[in-house]
Amino acid sequence: MPLPAPARSEQKAEAANGTPFTRLLSRPEDADEPAGKPFKHLKYCVRCCIPQTQEGVVFDELGVCQACQSAEQKIHIDWTARERALRRILDEAKAKAGSNYDCIIPISGGKDSTFQLYVLTQIYGMKPLAVTFSHNWFSETGWYNLMNSLEQFNVDHIMFTPNRKLVNKLARHSIFGIGDACWHCHAGVGSFPLQVAVRFNIPLLIWGESIAESSGRASYLNPVRKFDREYFTKVSAKLRPDQMVRRAEEYGADWAVTEKDLEPFNVPSAEDCERVGVFGIHLGDYLFWDDERQTEFVRDNFGWRETQVEGSFKRYKSAECVMPGVHDLACYLKRGYGRSTFHASVDVRAGLLSRDEAFELIREHDAVRPEGLDHYLKITGLTEAEFFAALEKQRRPELQGKVIPIYEKKAPNEERLVPYPQQVIERMRAKDVA
Ligand SMILES: [Zn+2]
Repeated sequence: MPLPAPARSEQKAEAANGTPFTRLLSRPEDADEPAGKPFKHLKYCVRCCIPQTQEGVVFDELGVCQACQSAEQKIHIDWTARERALRRILDEAKAKAGSNYDCIIPISGGKDSTFQLYVLTQIYGMKPLAVTFSHNWFSETGWYNLMNSLEQFNVDHIMFTPNRKLVNKLARHSIFGIGDACWHCHAGVGSFPLQVAVRFNIPLLIWGESIAESSGRASYLNPVRKFDREYFTKVSAKLRPDQMVRRAEEYGADWAVTEKDLEPFNVPSAEDCERVGVFGIHLGDYLFWDDERQTEFVRDNFGWRETQVEGSFKRYKSAECVMPGVHDLACYLKRGYGRSTFHASVDVRAGLLSRDEAFELIREHDAVRPEGLDHYLKITGLTEAEFFAALEKQRRPELQGKVIPIYEKKAPNEERLVPYPQQVIERMRAKDVA
């Protein structure tokens, strides 16, 4: 599709940026658009800031999105009855487990991980096996939070970490394959806890936040109890491991990915899951979930730490990873919104922000070029122009031919956006030199 003739300011940016479809501006104040909705021509939920380009979004006849409807349902739910239902599920699991672990708690090191471990070990007396799929992109803060949560609650833990080279290769192929950098993480968080469930014969998996909260795919009125082992493939990974195979003849030996490399990302067979009786619940479907309060609680009582997270004004979401900024920039380039749209919308529903205040925060954060992009380009061997071009191809039709502004980040990120294991290695070696 031919682009409209660029305005003068865009032509200048084209030269500097190397891309015909975005502008690298120095400050949000330079934007031509007045404050308000980031893209005037898009339809947004009338209550929050979710645009029509969000995957799977459904507006009702009044123009209200599913997440806003869920937020309303949440107030009217009989949470006491839900809590009793949770207790029954947990008691049953304990009774069946005998000397085995009572449940698996998939944890990432995020604030939900600490909260889940607290609730399940301290309030319900469960003996869980904590399971972590490492994206191998831990921030220093995230690593601390993960280790701290295990120490605080004395929980046994299993972690799987894909090798560095494979992570780098998959990060490159992922942009072209699914339009974000994180296929290995989407697939691994779905597959690894299930593999552990099958191998250790532990049927119950307990996740944190309700799906009703995090996407429009479910509502509180029908919590997802029915277990779907391919849920993560459908929702976030998009491609199965066999679809991520990249032959050396086509991609070169350095970027080849084999079936063998991808074996850890396969979910167990349906028969295996059935034999063990694997099922999963989300604590947020049974306990009133309040991100802000829970963050304060784990911070003040258990030493959980926040950090600056690129792409958002919230300091507690995805704090465990160095790459969320790249993930969210990709979404912004394809769909015209990033993580701060999502976070600001949550705050609007909770009554913490007005819709106008939310749009202001969104304009300030969604469009910033993340520092994590430098690391991403380094590990994938892609140029910035290649990165932007790959995402332009995947742009939603509503945004074709539109200028998507990108701003420079005002100040360096608070913590280094290099995977923590690599930081430790560097630091120890520097000692040798000194
Ligand atoms: Zn909404």
